[in-house]
Amino acid sequence: MKVAVILVGTELLNGGMLDTNSIYIAQELNKYGMEMEFKITVRDFKDEIYRAIDYCKKNVDLIIMSGGLGPTIDDITKDVIADYVKKPLIVDPEELEELKEKFKRGGYTFTNINKKEVEKPQGAITFKNDVGMAPAVYIDDIVAFPGVPKELYNMLPKFLNWYAKEKNLLDDEIYIKDLITYGIAESLLDEAVREFFTEDGIYYEFLVKDYGVLIRLQSKMSEKNKVEKIIKKIYNKIGEFIFGEDNDRLEKKVVELIKEKNLTISTAESCTGGMLASKLIDVSGVSENFYEGIVSYSNEAKMKRLGVSKETLEKYGAVSEETAREMLMGLHTDIGLATTGIAGPNGGTEEKPVGLVYMGIKIKNKIYIEKKIFKGDRNKVRERTVSHTLFKLIKILNEDV
Ligand code: AMP
Ligand code: MG
Repeated sequence: MKVAVILVGTELLNGGMLDTNSIYIAQELNKYGMEMEFKITVRDFKDEIYRAIDYCKKNVDLIIMSGGLGPTIDDITKDVIADYVKKPLIVDPEELEELKEKFKRGGYTFTNINKKEVEKPQGAITFKNDVGMAPAVYIDDIVAFPGVPKELYNMLPKFLNWYAKEKNLLDDEIYIKDLITYGIAESLLDEAVREFFTEDGIYYEFLVKDYGVLIRLQSKMSEKNKVEKIIKKIYNKIGEFIFGEDNDRLEKKVVELIKEKNLTISTAESCTGGMLASKLIDVSGVSENFYEGIVSYSNEAKMKRLGVSKETLEKYGAVSEETAREMLMGLHTDIGLATTGIAGPNGGTEEKPVGLVYMGIKIKNKIYIEKKIFKGDRNKVRERTVSHTLFKLIKILNEDV
């Protein structure tokens, strides 16, 4: 089943808006074993949209379009589809009533221009829009969605579900498993896992995310058990680098573990400026465990809030193992986390270059300090510090505390 995506919208081509819809579409298609063969982005011009449809029709089985279903003059996607399939645009009275009802409920005034939102080529099938006005419209292996992401998210799954049944695609359903690694380079991962993938139909790829590198394994649903066997082998070989699967994230894993062990946690941050606390607080339910986050950016704050000594700061500097250690001593929960470093782009010296970070973890009476030199810009250095600290904490917690 070959699929092409047509993104309609002048704003996508003049630097006004980044296309994120096609990423979502690709991910949803994956679940059904459908492949996006290519995508075309066009402006809100009739001939350009028409030519795109024509090209796709000649090359793929299904065309998914997004954009141009609104009420304004530049919303012409459905006109062009109607033209292409040689059907007039019609309005279903029931759908019109429903639209008017939505306007009433939302407290908006319905004008005749809005009627356009329920127009469709004669014979088209529609999919209900629970979060906006215009429904998705399907005819002749062409389906059109509004450009508004949340409306696409609402209707694409409904459409694909229906389409997969309609075309008997469900045998092709695929199994996907993501193993999430941290702290190991993609090339080394590849070397480690390559030998397990000798059979046709079972694939792997690496996806580099800010929270780690994913090993994505994929097969037909009917071969799931073979993939599971490979997963076991991968854990045996490089399990120390795998911190989770699928929707796991570093912070989610940390919170799971501290909840399991009934531990409290707090943070003292310099270079990360609250990012570490914020990541942990992203996880709902952390409130019973998270006590406080201190952003002690200046030397004075390090002394006043955490009790770091003046002598330490003068002798070793704020970015030092000694300071990280004393920052931890100022925290009074089961777990303390501290970060101090030079995020850059300024402030580096030969001895203490940009990217130099000390990360401290205190668990009960044990203290771990790690020194790292991270590459990247200011934000990357800060993000990496956060990820690294969380990963290290997971490892320590897993080693039985
Ligand atoms: P439209 O359905 O063309 O009226 O699009 C409505 C809005 O959706 C646009 O103003 C954009 O903000 C957004 N949008 C359109 N296409 C995309 C896309 N490919 N990715 C993300 N947002 C989009
Ligand atoms: Mg538009």
